[in-house]
Amino acid sequence: MKYYQDTAFSQLHATINGNSSVNCPEKLYINLVCRKHCDPLSANAPDKQMPLAVFKGLIDGTAQYVKNYALAIGGEALFLKDFEKRLLHIRQNKLSNATIDLHTFGEALTPDNISLLRDNSVKVNVSFCSPTNNLHTKISGKSNFVNICENLQKLASAYNNVDISYTPALYVRIHKLNQNKLLAMTRLAKELGIKRIGFWLLNNPTYKAAVSSKALRNELEEVYRFMDKSGMLLWLYPLRVGNHVFSGTQYRPVSNYILNTNCCAPVVSSTVDYNGDVYTCHERSIYIDNINNNSFIDIWRGQRYEYMRNIVNAPEHMPEKCKTCQWANRK
Ligand code: SF4
Repeated sequence: MKYYQDTAFSQLHATINGNSSVNCPEKLYINLVCRKHCDPLSANAPDKQMPLAVFKGLIDGTAQYVKNYALAIGGEALFLKDFEKRLLHIRQNKLSNATIDLHTFGEALTPDNISLLRDNSVKVNVSFCSPTNNLHTKISGKSNFVNICENLQKLASAYNNVDISYTPALYVRIHKLNQNKLLAMTRLAKELGIKRIGFWLLNNPTYKAAVSSKALRNELEEVYRFMDKSGMLLWLYPLRVGNHVFSGTQYRPVSNYILNTNCCAPVVSSTVDYNGDVYTCHERSIYIDNINNNSFIDIWRGQRYEYMRNIVNAPEHMPEKCKTCQWANRK
């Protein structure tokens, strides 16, 4: 038997240049737009986006510490009319070795936006769910598959000479409908010039969740082999699939190991939602306070945050979401 120390959460921090201070998280997620708003009109509705002045205040108060800003784990930030202004505000104020991530759904990757992101060294993650038009439409409800593939090709080409860790990536949520299409998606990504892919198991809603079967483990193992052979980077993957964890070249029974199930998220990262709500992690499982009441730094250093840092690792007291959290090998 061995200790199994790896956690998926640590994969998210693999390229961050270390915490500069305990006074502030090393990684700060900022949801610029409400997560349900992914079209140009509603993304720009004043009550569905973080006001520019609030955003600037947040950056000004944290830029001397934060090593990575992750933008838009929510709605489509690229649709914001003032997105460029916000990006440049981070660029001008951040630490020289701090990085910027952007999550996008791919539709808004126009040539101008691609140039903007490339010129400002933004690491881009694009949500992707299918290797075919039909399945994409079924899963996303949108008929923009061809458009997204074309955008991905242009994006990959724009970042052609960049270190592989900073090239544009796919972010694939695995669920029932696409869990046997992962290899096909990976092959397509390679054809489009994408060198980096991350996979994640969708848990909610449960009727959509992937089935943690041997077939899924086999599919994932095939994907990992293909990516290795093709020189691609697997930047995120489910370490635990049901009662198996990935070790070496395959998924092995959990019973062979003593798993590390500690969560360090509230010590090194934090999430601010578009309306100013602050959460312990990007899963938004524990609400702390709102930056319209107190400054982010005061919230981070406050008593409630300190109390919650302990709660996430206290089995009798932790929220339900923490009890089954994949980021900490708990499910
Ligand atoms: S959901 Fe809970 S256990 Fe998971 S990363 Fe967030 S705080 Fe940690």
